[in-house]
Amino acid sequence: MSNEQEFLPFPKGFATTAIHHSQEADQWDSMAIVPPLVTSTTFKQYGPAKPKQYEYGRSGNPTRNILEQVLANLDNAKYGLTFASGLATHSTLLGLFNNGDHVICGDDVYGGTGRLFRQVATKFGLDVSFVDFTNLAVVKNSIKSNTKLIWVETPTNPLMKIVDIKAAANLGKDNNIIVVVDNTFLTPYLQRPIDLGADIVIYSLSKYMNGHSDVIMGALTTSNEELYEKLKFLQNAMGGIPSPFDCYLVNRGLKTLAIRMQQHQKNGLAVAKFLEQHPKVEKVLYPGLKSHPQYDVFRKQTSGHSGTFSFYLKGVLKDAETFLNALNVFAIAESLGGYESLAELPSVMTHASVPPEHRAAIGITDNLIRLSVGIEDVEDLIADLEQAFSKID
Ligand SMILES: *Cc1c(COP(=O)(O)O)cnc(C)c1O
Repeated sequence: MSNEQEFLPFPKGFATTAIHHSQEADQWDSMAIVPPLVTSTTFKQYGPAKPKQYEYGRSGNPTRNILEQVLANLDNAKYGLTFASGLATHSTLLGLFNNGDHVICGDDVYGGTGRLFRQVATKFGLDVSFVDFTNLAVVKNSIKSNTKLIWVETPTNPLMKIVDIKAAANLGKDNNIIVVVDNTFLTPYLQRPIDLGADIVIYSLSKYMNGHSDVIMGALTTSNEELYEKLKFLQNAMGGIPSPFDCYLVNRGLKTLAIRMQQHQKNGLAVAKFLEQHPKVEKVLYPGLKSHPQYDVFRKQTSGHSGTFSFYLKGVLKDAETFLNALNVFAIAESLGGYESLAELPSVMTHASVPPEHRAAIGITDNLIRLSVGIEDVEDLIADLEQAFSKID
């Protein structure tokens, strides 16, 4: 049923890697099965400038180190780095660039990513173009002699457009431009951009990766040693590191990532199919259904979709509000990717910082609702949506 054969198979050995990689009990004296949570900010040295391995907690911490290695392996990457939030990851990455460099970013990205580029990066002299990545000829035509970064988010948020990762990566390679893919919406269980040629994969771990809506954290992975060394330097030099306790929690969350994603996929697909036939729904934006305009690109580069997608309700702002207010199991909240179901109105919530004319131009209207379908019993979720629709007149 879910993960129909049109999609790539789920990655082999994924759950085993998440559970065991870098955490064999024999490596620590206690033989603890659960990796130790080390909160110490500093580490004793054998002599002046003679550390065993760690020196100061900002530059390295054993609990964080384990998580970074696991994350790298889940992406088939060589290196991983973690940060205090998804956006701290983005900010640190911007430290790679110089005043005058040009960035090409998708026109429909996470609201905070757009805000960082529009309102912060420009202050430091970065020139940013927002273009539609579903047509890579447009991206190609936007390349200038000073273009240094191509920023891909796929599926896009909240419009669920799909970007051909391999083609975008090739465009970067041909023009000596770094290609970054924000893989937050699918996780490495469903999409592996490094395998498709991306230079860097970036995550908000606050979403599916941790999956329990109790940690804000970010990460990046790469197999490019030179980039890794620069980013590792920036992690320490800029200081946006996560706490050891949060690293411990995310590592724990990863243990169930594979089974959580399978259930998010099943529930998401069932809810999308329910919405697609509902008379009060104008259109469902779910890339794992054949009705999606880029279904063919999507099925070739992923192992299916997660539980986050959007739909247009028939009606106006008032109807969307009536619908959302009537939900009982789904909570009205920002964020996504936790075990619990959430619903939100991007135009006034997650994407309120997008300039109104840009919102209108790309289709973030007041009847567009984004769902994060959780792993509750799907019949309860569908019944909740059905009764909320019945409240709209
Ligand atoms: C949430 C999110 C971010 C930002 O991550 P934080 O952990 O909230 O800072 C970036 N990209 C995407 C796609 C997200 O969903």
